[in-house]
Amino acid sequence: MIIAKTPEDVKKVVSGWKKEGLKIGLCPTMGYLHEGHASLVDASVANCDRTIVSVFVNPIQFGPTEDLATYPRDFERDCALLEEHGADLVFHPDPEDMYFDDFCTYVDMDVLPDTLCGASRAGHFRGVCTVVNKLFNISKADMAFFGKKDAQQLAVIKRMVRDLNIDIEIYGCPIVREDDGLAKSSRNTYLSDEERKAALILSRTVLEGQHICAAGERNSAALKEAMMKKLAEEPMADVEYVEVVDGLNMQPVEEFKEGDLVAMAVRIGKTRLIDNFTVGDPDIVI
Ligand code: AMP
Repeated sequence: MIIAKTPEDVKKVVSGWKKEGLKIGLCPTMGYLHEGHASLVDASVANCDRTIVSVFVNPIQFGPTEDLATYPRDFERDCALLEEHGADLVFHPDPEDMYFDDFCTYVDMDVLPDTLCGASRAGHFRGVCTVVNKLFNISKADMAFFGKKDAQQLAVIKRMVRDLNIDIEIYGCPIVREDDGLAKSSRNTYLSDEERKAALILSRTVLEGQHICAAGERNSAALKEAMMKKLAEEPMADVEYVEVVDGLNMQPVEEFKEGDLVAMAVRIGKTRLIDNFTVGDPDIVI
């Protein structure tokens, strides 16, 4: 497995692969990898000839009060996991390798970032779109793999690719969960034992929402009310939002249909966790 630090290092390897006509898959990550990330790598290895994984905590997608400095990092362990899952190249740049001192070009999207996580994380999706666009250009990937865990991000990336005519296929991978239902996340490491137990309220609420939809409910207010009631069972849960949005443009809907997204962000102590499901999606929590 090749470890590349700069965009130039990656481009050299990629140009050789391109000459051979190989299909390249890209899995963008911020590291501290777990089985959720590994599932993206597995999907890329299954669909492409070569797999590039980026491990980069992208400073421009963090707000000033967010956890950029404390975000967990363990590059050696990440490499061991990636090697095991068959990645061919790990791109691990420093921020200076990605952003010149006078960097001033950003990808800015309207509409989709205005709701859900984007509503409270100003500039987050601008940072995500910009870095992902750079990673697409550096890797020259034919396919890129993203998790449905970050459903708004997946919708935003698909929209950017469509709007900017980027020649890449975007593949969404199901949410990977712990045995008890908690969606795997690098940020789960922040949770104390007590908070870890309390965090189960997210997946339990997703399951409750899925049952309500399966029973035929299609009114967003009714679904949200039932999910808020479920979340209120956990005193440690501080709800940022529970929202039902159109699956394509991420705007709230009064009545929902298959393909629409039911998403939530909840703070357990200081840790902000997200979970979601797509209406009609066969991925049931546990
Ligand atoms: P991150 O390192 O958190 O930026 O995540 C990198 C990619 O892995 C994103 O596309 C995430 O959606 C995806 N991912 C993170 N956690 C999970 C999970 N539990 N299941 C599936 N995909 C995930």
